[in-house]
Amino acid sequence: MQLSSRMRTLVQAHLVDTEPYDPMFSPTRINLSANENTYGLPDAARTAIDEALAEAVLNRYPDAMANPLRDELASWLGVDREQICVGNGGDEGIFNFLFAFGGAGRTLVTCPPDFSEYAQFAGLTQTAVKQVFRDPDTMLPDADALVAAVATADLAIFTSPNNPTGDLMPLDLIERLCDACPGLVMIDEAYMEFAEPGASALALLPRHDNLVVLRTFSKAFAEAGVRCGYVVAAPDIIDVYAAVRQIYSVSCLTQAAALAALEHRADFEPVIARIKQERARLHEGISALVAGLPAPARTWPSSGNFILARLPQASRIRTRLRDEYSILVRDFSYAPGLDGCLRITVGTPEENDEVLAALAALIEEETR
Ligand SMILES: *Cc1c(COP(=O)(O)O)cnc(C)c1O
Repeated sequence: MQLSSRMRTLVQAHLVDTEPYDPMFSPTRINLSANENTYGLPDAARTAIDEALAEAVLNRYPDAMANPLRDELASWLGVDREQICVGNGGDEGIFNFLFAFGGAGRTLVTCPPDFSEYAQFAGLTQTAVKQVFRDPDTMLPDADALVAAVATADLAIFTSPNNPTGDLMPLDLIERLCDACPGLVMIDEAYMEFAEPGASALALLPRHDNLVVLRTFSKAFAEAGVRCGYVVAAPDIIDVYAAVRQIYSVSCLTQAAALAALEHRADFEPVIARIKQERARLHEGISALVAGLPAPARTWPSSGNFILARLPQASRIRTRLRDEYSILVRDFSYAPGLDGCLRITVGTPEENDEVLAALAALIEEETR
């Protein structure tokens, strides 16, 4: 959907071809399209959040920097408060990264297929993008090409685990990228809680002062509706975030809900363990379904709470899943590098059973 001709004359020139965001959401019985934690909040955490929300002071402005939440994050992550800036979702951390460090005349390196927001926010901030595509079959990055690209770039964003391909960016590659890039390197760890321990780039912060790690409460912490994310980086980078951000972007309700969830982080561990078990089961199930199909049908191992699968008739299967089974998954088949790909969020055991059974039936019918 294009902007009206009136608006096309009024907006800044570089915004003429922007479009209202369409999340392609349709109400369905089973929604496995947005990588949310479909188990919801653990009961004890939900109770604590409700109590914290009931006590929130609404007539005063919130703590601008969300200091109680920063302190709890700092003690969890083993960093200092001065290394953290909280935002209205991880999205704000990405936008402000490009707003502050990108802009006209600057170049961002990305590694698609990746999160579409990087390119979108680069466009809004007039930042040029240099895309270093992944291998179309393995979906793994070309390490040497990435290192060469960041050496002449102003900033870079890589996702680990990557949405939608599911792979982790190896720590030794992240170190090479930080060494090579004259500017800042963001590692977006929106799904890191679902990966095996030891994969986070947070461990590299003491050695790399140009590294920025992005995290969120939207995925493992089951608070996508709360809108809370944060960046962890050197204190002088955080000062820039504190300077450019909208001062009260993180409401007192958001701060209270995120802090209460974080204080109950132990309660999320069994849920995360369950999602990882279900991820293995879903991956096996989809692997079995694509095993009998000709190339390029395949799936990929994932360290996130989602599985990417390349299927024949992917768009038709996605539409039939929605219309005949009321199951929503994400269609990426239009996106560069993702021909025929659907992304399926790991749900509850019942949801995963349903999507596997439906996929089996639809693949059978569509390839008969
Ligand atoms: C979900 C997601 C985020 C953050 O989302 P918010 O809800 O804004 O916190 C960031 N990066 C990636 C790759 C994501 O998938």
